[in-house]
Amino acid sequence: MSDMERRDVLIASVGLATAALAAASPAQAGDPSFMNNVPDPLLSGDELPTFKFALEKSEGKVIGNSYGKEATVKQLPISKGIAGVSMRLEPGAMRELHWHATAAEWAFVIEGRVRTIVITPQGEAETNDFEPGDVWLFPRGHGHVLQCLGTQPCHFILIFDNGYFSEFGTFSITDWIGHVPKPLLAKNFGVPEATFDTFPKQEIYFARGAIPPEQPSAPLQGWKLPAQTHKYRLLSQVPHATYRGGREWRADVTRFPISTTITGTILELDAGALRELHWHPTADEWQYIIDGQVTVTMFGSHGRFRVETLEKGDAGYIPQGYGHSIENIGERPARILIGLNSGTYQAVDLSQWIAGNPADVLATNFAQRPELFGKFPRHDVFISGRDGPSK
Ligand code: MN
Ligand code: MN
Repeated sequence: MSDMERRDVLIASVGLATAALAAASPAQAGDPSFMNNVPDPLLSGDELPTFKFALEKSEGKVIGNSYGKEATVKQLPISKGIAGVSMRLEPGAMRELHWHATAAEWAFVIEGRVRTIVITPQGEAETNDFEPGDVWLFPRGHGHVLQCLGTQPCHFILIFDNGYFSEFGTFSITDWIGHVPKPLLAKNFGVPEATFDTFPKQEIYFARGAIPPEQPSAPLQGWKLPAQTHKYRLLSQVPHATYRGGREWRADVTRFPISTTITGTILELDAGALRELHWHPTADEWQYIIDGQVTVTMFGSHGRFRVETLEKGDAGYIPQGYGHSIENIGERPARILIGLNSGTYQAVDLSQWIAGNPADVLATNFAQRPELFGKFPRHDVFISGRDGPSK
């Protein structure tokens, strides 16, 4: 090929690439990457909005001694990317068969025991029993049911990778069957119409009955298990990483393969410890204080900086890319549940970023002498103890 021909091929391929770019223009309506680039009016003001919600102090939906307390965009408007629910089930109670049309569900058990049954689109069903420290993940749209196991109540925190999941996105089986004409139901299931005379006419939400058998019963179709499990024993593992001021357990997609859209972590901060200044390039962050008292800072550019104090039972939210930190201001260890709406964990920690630059660059940037930066950490600190980072 002559140089001229080569040039023509090059021009032709550049033309093709330009055409492909134009076809995939982010200005197309409904393109999520375009939507992500539109400034959220809530985050465009002179001040940052609150990023805290007193979840456990809210009323929620109460039936008997069971409850579901929500933090969606309604309660915490900033939390567009992730919603959370605190749910308690009394013995014999069941969160009825349902699915979420617009979100995956991730859960962490705080207290008691829970049994879940989930169906996959391949028709496989998995039954799992959970104890405190265990995690489940149900992909978006997969039908499931939750039962309290044993004679003690259970309490768990649910995370959904869509802040709008609740209002428009949760579908319960009694709500559906209660609104379908009986002839259609009879035809669907091949049973007499009268079968449905005594079925609930509206959504039950929490069903109540006998305490489930300790050994789970076989499904009507028999055991037909999926290849990937929906259960991960998060706190039974050794911590993912240990630092001078605390430790972290992490369930990302490399450890919990079914969890492709959510990473869940438990952060334990000793008294006075600090999860250092950082941001997440690819995910929003949802926080729940399991125990302790912390201050969370958030940086939103243009001089906007906000601090909130979160106590046991409070939820917090940090939008994707926003700078933040978490400091234990109590006298006891603090335990924080953190959910990110990406199965792959990514963070840029400020100590690491500084360590990734030479002293002369830092000296110019901060108008300091270069020698000063010899005192800064040369590694990722992640968690700092009361007296500073590990050396
Ligand atoms: Mn659910
Ligand atoms: Mn974070």
